[in-house]
Amino acid sequence: MSSKNRTLPKGVTAGDFDKAMREIRAIVGAEYVLVDEEPLAPYNKIMMPVADAQHAPSAAVMPDGVEQIRKIMKVANKYRLPVYPVSTGKNIGYGSAAPVERGQIVMDLRRMNRIIEVDADLCTALVEPGVTYQQLYDYLQEHNLPLWFSCPAPSAIAGPVGNMVDRGVGYTPYGEHFMFSCGMEVVLANGDVLRTGMGAMENSNTWQVFKWGYGPTLDGIFTQSNYGIVTKMGMWLMPAPPDFRPFCIQYPNETDITKIVDALRPLRIAMVIPNAVVIAHTLWEAPCTPVKRTDYVTGPGAISDEAVLKIQADHGIGAWNVYAGLYGTKETNDANWKIIEAVAAATGGKIITQEQSRGSQALQYRFDLMKGKPNLGEFGLYNWRGGGGSIWFAPVSQAKGSETLKQMKMAKDILGKYGFDYVGEFIVGWRDMHHVIDLLYDRSDETQKKNAYACYDELLHAFAKEGYGMYRANTAFAEKVAATYGPVKRDVEKRLKKALDPNNIIAPGRCGISL
Ligand SMILES: Cc1cc2nc3c(=O)[nH]c(=O)nc-3n(C[C@H](O)[C@H](O)[C@H](O)COP(=O)(O)OP(=O)(O)OC[C@H]3O[C@@H](n4cnc5c(N)ncnc54)[C@H](O)[C@@H]3O)c2cc1C
Repeated sequence: MSSKNRTLPKGVTAGDFDKAMREIRAIVGAEYVLVDEEPLAPYNKIMMPVADAQHAPSAAVMPDGVEQIRKIMKVANKYRLPVYPVSTGKNIGYGSAAPVERGQIVMDLRRMNRIIEVDADLCTALVEPGVTYQQLYDYLQEHNLPLWFSCPAPSAIAGPVGNMVDRGVGYTPYGEHFMFSCGMEVVLANGDVLRTGMGAMENSNTWQVFKWGYGPTLDGIFTQSNYGIVTKMGMWLMPAPPDFRPFCIQYPNETDITKIVDALRPLRIAMVIPNAVVIAHTLWEAPCTPVKRTDYVTGPGAISDEAVLKIQADHGIGAWNVYAGLYGTKETNDANWKIIEAVAAATGGKIITQEQSRGSQALQYRFDLMKGKPNLGEFGLYNWRGGGGSIWFAPVSQAKGSETLKQMKMAKDILGKYGFDYVGEFIVGWRDMHHVIDLLYDRSDETQKKNAYACYDELLHAFAKEGYGMYRANTAFAEKVAATYGPVKRDVEKRLKKALDPNNIIAPGRCGISL
């Protein structure tokens, strides 16, 4: 490609870029360095409402190990090349595998896909970034190990390291993934290799069992940040329970969210329900059922409340659909089941058990996720509006009914103003809720794209005004989201960046951190 049309990293000349690429080719092999437009296209496939060019990479490199990464860091420091690491690169709706800023070099870690160790007694695993959940699942099956893990919805193609470093969530009792990680290996910008926790000790055999080590615990600074490249991660696996009893409880009214949350919170905090409960709105369930939007909406604008009610009646979907499970022995689950039945009866919910759910696609993929069985059932969401536009708006809420109703109403009003549907769910941590909304729009329609950007922007600012912050954000809005957390936090983050990466070469701009 002529240097005139090329995407180059900010401030790097074409001559220096070519020299750097030659040096990186010598490290990883020519076939693992991509610079031409066509092979780079998958690294520029975004669903966010901004121009592709804003997130176009200059190159992609695929190292096969820590030593290669260390050598690449040397080259990157020499030429001031910004490097954007991805593990499995499936951060779909948050930026996919595209770099946070135009011209960055994607460091694709897919070749580092070794399951280094599974300890069946301690229920731990040590994995590289390229390992997918599906791969880990197959490994456990092949070795006949009765161990489960927690995974996000796109589990068949995504992996534990990328998900954990973005602080993603899943649906088993181990659903808060960072919490259930244990020990990281990180290549720093200067090429040093840091092992966190007990991994810093020579000959340690406790790296995957004790998280804290001695002194400050550093793991957190390598999540939602750009202070290092994570090359190994320990994670805890869960013994498959003798009895697993997933269920759904459907509720008829949108305002029922108040009593659902207030009734479930005590059960979640006391761990009668041990897993991350999902409370999904009709319009999250509909596309995954699947229901066609065009059967209910013909014109532009958001779907009407009447049409939503009709979908509920036509397809047997609740206004809210609660997904949870009991994990134990038959005896403990029998006892806890009585509590679930009593709560459902007291709150006007209709229970659907696994046996009653046969044939329902939406229920089946949820039940599978609650036992860590990878699938892609949730991709049905993209057929709802069509046109390939999606960004997650994901504020944190207290696990209190009044708060969730307030957030739902605020979001629905703002989305409606721009012609978008409320496609949302609440995921109950212990005391918090991840309120996850898929802002679906047609990306081929310039007006919808502009509206989607303005809508996210208004949502962000309206929620921040009420004191609600994002749990995670897409790369197009990284700077704006970081700004909602105030100047002192940002200053500390910048000072850490200066200390650990003075040449600003690891993913500058990720989560709003840059020099
Ligand atoms: C339909 C649908 C449903 C979804 N449901 C969920 C869900 O239930 N839960 C959930 O959490 N997410 C969900 N997602 C979002 C996303 O797809 C997942 O979180 C996915 O696991 C992230 O992709 P990944 O694991 O390939 O990470 P990657 O894309 O590889 O990385 C994610 C981020 O972390 C950084 N990073 C990655 N690897 C490293 C590394 N080794 N060192 C330093 N930084 C690194 C990257 O720069 C990137 O910004 C969903 C997406 C879709 C489309």
